Amino acid sequence: MTTIAALDTERLEALSATFSGSLLRSGETGYDEARQLHNGLIDKRPTLIARCRGTADVVDAVALALEAGLQISVRGGGHNVAGRAATDGGLMIDLAEMKGMYVDPRARTIRAQAGVTWAEFNRETAFHGLAVTGGQVSTTGIAGFTLGGGLGWLMGAYGLAADNVLAVELVTANGDVLDVTADSNPDLFWALRGGGGNFGIATSFEFQLHPLTQIVGGLIAYPIDAAADVLHFYRDFTQTASDELTVHSVLAHAPDGSGVKIAALALCHAGTMEAAEAEIAPIRAFGSPVMEMLGPMPYPAVNAMLDANYPRGALNYWKSSFISELSDSFIDEAVTRFASTPSTMNAILIEHYHGAVTRVGQTDTAVPHRSEGYNLLLPSIWIDPADTDANVAWTRETYDAFRPSFAEGRWLNYLGDDEKDDAVRAAYGPNYERLARIKREYDPDNVFHLNQNIEPT
Ligand SMILES: Cc1cc2nc3c(=O)[nH]c(=O)nc-3n(C[C@H](O)[C@H](O)[C@H](O)COP(=O)(O)OP(=O)(O)OC[C@H]3O[C@@H](n4cnc5c(N)ncnc54)[C@H](O)[C@@H]3O)c2cc1C
Repeated sequence: MTTIAALDTERLEALSATFSGSLLRSGETGYDEARQLHNGLIDKRPTLIARCRGTADVVDAVALALEAGLQISVRGGGHNVAGRAATDGGLMIDLAEMKGMYVDPRARTIRAQAGVTWAEFNRETAFHGLAVTGGQVSTTGIAGFTLGGGLGWLMGAYGLAADNVLAVELVTANGDVLDVTADSNPDLFWALRGGGGNFGIATSFEFQLHPLTQIVGGLIAYPIDAAADVLHFYRDFTQTASDELTVHSVLAHAPDGSGVKIAALALCHAGTMEAAEAEIAPIRAFGSPVMEMLGPMPYPAVNAMLDANYPRGALNYWKSSFISELSDSFIDEAVTRFASTPSTMNAILIEHYHGAVTRVGQTDTAVPHRSEGYNLLLPSIWIDPADTDANVAWTRETYDAFRPSFAEGRWLNYLGDDEKDDAVRAAYGPNYERLARIKREYDPDNVFHLNQNIEPT
């Protein structure tokens, strides 16, 4: 491991003279805050943190790391539970202060820098009555999210975030700055839409936006005793859901902090108010809810409605897999397993994956998951480090109990730090070999390896 003592002090001072952002070392103001990620389980100490303000800073930071032999980690929004945005002993290239955004209302596009979060992005686009598929928790960064595909409330209507990317500005391993589009670098453009952080550092993204202001959405919750009925209803209901309607089901705990278990449906309808009310009428008519908060709201509000359940700094261990069907045995297993969950912040979440996202070819972008179905997510979250072993064990055992229902794919953005190569392969699926060839062309030495890594072959 290279330490700061091994860094050429003169070189660092020369860089400081022109660097727009800040270069932070252990003990300096801002260092501890900058190395902290969303997942409080991650506690890494970079030799140097380069808090970049622009593309030139990123180019210089990459050059410095290569000269000094420091491994590079890249932080966008810092949300990835695997925690590879930070590094022990290397150079953390931190993009959190790169917040520039410009909406072109006539072209319905936005150019956004890589430190922007979905809350910031949605505020800017909503101002123009426009939107694109974004994170279901608004504190998530647009960068890692989009490079990993990016599923969200609007995927049925508009596809994944990655499906809406028009251009990416990319700093490559040899310091080139490329404006990557379908015309300029077709292979690389293909790889960036789902291939994660493997090909360079994305400094900004251009997205196609869509007219959208109001949605109908929210939460409806039922007593946990009704969980099996709710999941059966959910299975049937989602069979005919329109592209505009995305409904997730979740076994969780009441948002009032009481620890009371509930079964809930969370939804977003991006069509007209009339179409939304007609389509969700069966949900309103179903069962005996203990809480109903469904109605029209601005689109950014639906992206923030789950934020309080995912506090920054809480301890996270996640597992996920696509599932082939919501069978009766899957539903029984979910109800049984949830009864023994050790944290009142844990959940069993089922995301409906359908519509526009499934009408893109499996090899058209780097994201291979294009079949209608469901994604199972176990987002385990707790506060007390003494509870770590119990929560990790419950999550692993629960995940294993669902194995008979697993489909082949894994969602790249949800992979944790302890996944094996087969999980990464399952996330890239049949696109892995092409991705590996493109990786060899743009990053033959695997400079960008702190990610869900594709080895250059
Ligand atoms: C509470 C919560 C909710 C989530 N909800 C969703 C969801 O609705 N849908 C979904 O698809 N995912 C979701 N995720 C997963 C999320 O998309 C990924 O964790 C994603 O990596 C986060 O992006 P980030 O920029 O915030 O992360 P970071 O931790 O900063 O980055 C993650 C990795 O991406 C790479 N990276 C980041 N920025 C760049 C860049 N500019 N250039 C090159 N590589 C880069 C790096 O390899 C880095 O290690 C959620 C995660 C959390 C914790």
